[in-house]
Amino acid sequence: MNQKFEIPSRLLMGPGPSNVPSSVLEALSSPTIGHLDPAFLEVMDQVQEMLRAVLLTDNPFTIAVSGTGSAAMEAAVDNLVEPGDRVIVGVNGVFGTRLVDMAGRAGAEVEAIEADWGTPIPVEAIEAALKRNSVSMVMLVHGETSTGVMQPIEGVGDLCHEHGAMLLLDCVTSLAGVPVRIDDWGVDVCYSGAQKCLSVPPGVSPLTFSERALEKLENRGSKVASWYLDMTMIRNYWGEKRAYHHTAPINMVYALHEGLRLILEEGLENRWDRHRRHAAALQAGLQAVGWEPFVDEAWRLHPLTTIRPPAGVDEKEFRGRLLQEHDIEIGAGLGPLAGEVVRVGLMGASSSPESVLRFLSATESLTGAVSGVATNAAEQLLNRQEA
Ligand SMILES: *Cc1c(COP(=O)(O)O)cnc(C)c1O
Repeated sequence: MNQKFEIPSRLLMGPGPSNVPSSVLEALSSPTIGHLDPAFLEVMDQVQEMLRAVLLTDNPFTIAVSGTGSAAMEAAVDNLVEPGDRVIVGVNGVFGTRLVDMAGRAGAEVEAIEADWGTPIPVEAIEAALKRNSVSMVMLVHGETSTGVMQPIEGVGDLCHEHGAMLLLDCVTSLAGVPVRIDDWGVDVCYSGAQKCLSVPPGVSPLTFSERALEKLENRGSKVASWYLDMTMIRNYWGEKRAYHHTAPINMVYALHEGLRLILEEGLENRWDRHRRHAAALQAGLQAVGWEPFVDEAWRLHPLTTIRPPAGVDEKEFRGRLLQEHDIEIGAGLGPLAGEVVRVGLMGASSSPESVLRFLSATESLTGAVSGVATNAAEQLLNRQEA
């Protein structure tokens, strides 16, 4: 009972969490100080500034929610949906389904626009729904981590605003892995998570509201149902008043600070490009030994590949042995994709040529593929990308 844990070293190539760089772990283990200590307030100011730079927004209300991505999702929904509001939710996977659940719990009348798992929500369907009814918000998942689909967003913000609706975007898996341009796209509400492409342990989550969203928050007719996530109070802690609401997860905020610093040091464009190149190499390698990508290339989400194993490969046994014998974690298929595909993440620090090659080499040995076929295909592509 009173022995310390021995945590194994894993290569995290699932749908999150991703591997955490050592400097982020070091930041996490810095001394805990008070949540109103001027030094900590300075850390918070810098986190807000770096979050705006990573989200490509000037929104003054840009903070880190105390909790994982789902807490930030709930904060977005609970604060900006009032009982009786009509909202549209794009549903083509697990996280759209979760948004429907949350919006319903917040008292919204929800219209789900569905698309097949593995395809994006057609913009025409969003437009048609906006024309049918007056709605207060459209909610979309940018990177659907359950299917590996990236939702096209350009033009959707304007479309929503023309119809008097706000746009909410779930960027938990997309932020810092693919382009996310909050202001250019006219996104009113966006949240993310720490443990996907930011490569920070789970526990704090970015959240940003546009002026339009703040106006909705300020003009609510009822209190926000959640006390813990009530942004009418929390904005006073992140803002000038510095009023105590709940004790911030101090060390998690240090970790986020370091994670954001690393992202800006690398450069957003470089980081997006890194995710794109390594996903392509992974897919080339797996295709060379008979695996089939589940999602059309046009809307593949670079940080997360869903892929069908060749006949004769038991995906569950494959995942189990990958973890037990090779210390590599990947994800199972979800919902209708359970048993059909596996989900291989290359997020944040986990997105490297070394991850791709180590995974492919393990795959060759576990599936009886000819040694070198997958790794050579990936290496050739990586070399071409270099040239
Ligand atoms: C992971 C994820 C979430 C939920 O985040 P948690 O950190 O697991 O609470 C929400 N949306 C998407 C798209 C995700 O990938």
